[in-house]
Amino acid sequence: MKAKVCTHCGEANPICGFYKHKTNKDRLYSKCKTCCKKIAADNAIDTKEYKREHYKKNRESITASQKEYRDNNAEKMSIMAKNSYEKHKTARLLASKAYAIANKEKVKEYKKKYKQNNKEKTNASQRILRFKNKDANKLMLALLAINDLDKYAAIKQRRSEISKSYSEKNKVKITAYRVANAEKIKIGIKKRMEVDTVFYLKIRTAKLIGYSIWKKGYSKKSRTNDILGCDYETFIAHLESQFTDGMNWDRRGCVIVSKTLIFSNIC
Ligand SMILES: [Zn+2]
Repeated sequence: MKAKVCTHCGEANPICGFYKHKTNKDRLYSKCKTCCKKIAADNAIDTKEYKREHYKKNRESITASQKEYRDNNAEKMSIMAKNSYEKHKTARLLASKAYAIANKEKVKEYKKKYKQNNKEKTNASQRILRFKNKDANKLMLALLAINDLDKYAAIKQRRSEISKSYSEKNKVKITAYRVANAEKIKIGIKKRMEVDTVFYLKIRTAKLIGYSIWKKGYSKKSRTNDILGCDYETFIAHLESQFTDGMNWDRRGCVIVSKTLIFSNIC
């Protein structure tokens, strides 16, 4: 059989002009491909409506069978999803970027709402991100201190305001934590002093100053920063400028932070 007559348009078509049909006698549709396409196009709207209705009526059984299929073909589905992701990756990225630019306000509003509704989640992820980018952030700040002093100062100011307001708001909580974890904090400080020069100096200076400063009329509540009259980075730079040959921070255990030096700085 090389040709077949279409039951719809009545024309004779070659076999390849018919779709395959599993249960028909000759394994072919009775209508030719052209007619099938035309009928489908004519009924497109009705079909869509029918499908929607059908889904509404049979939602439970449909979702159940979909779930069953997913469960039985997990591996296949995962591979398919991966392939599809890779295939459309760039296009998707571009589309979402374009959307973000075209709907700036909307996106902003959405993000704000999401943050409000998922406070704990966003806080946690921010914390992880901060930890992950710790070194990069430090480096960025150091570069900023060289390239854009105003911006650097603004960031420092903002950070110190945030930390001040936090500690004021959570005074009780912080004190309770310090009391309950005194030993742990002590060990943490020791560990950090070994690797963090600025921190090492901060602690050493605070101790030295605290030991002798009451004569100058400062109370224990005065911040070491205020007493020192500059931030620790400046202080370190000052100390380093006084280094003589062979002096460096690796040998700090035996050098440098003498009382006289500090007092010459603060008096
Ligand atoms: Zn036909």
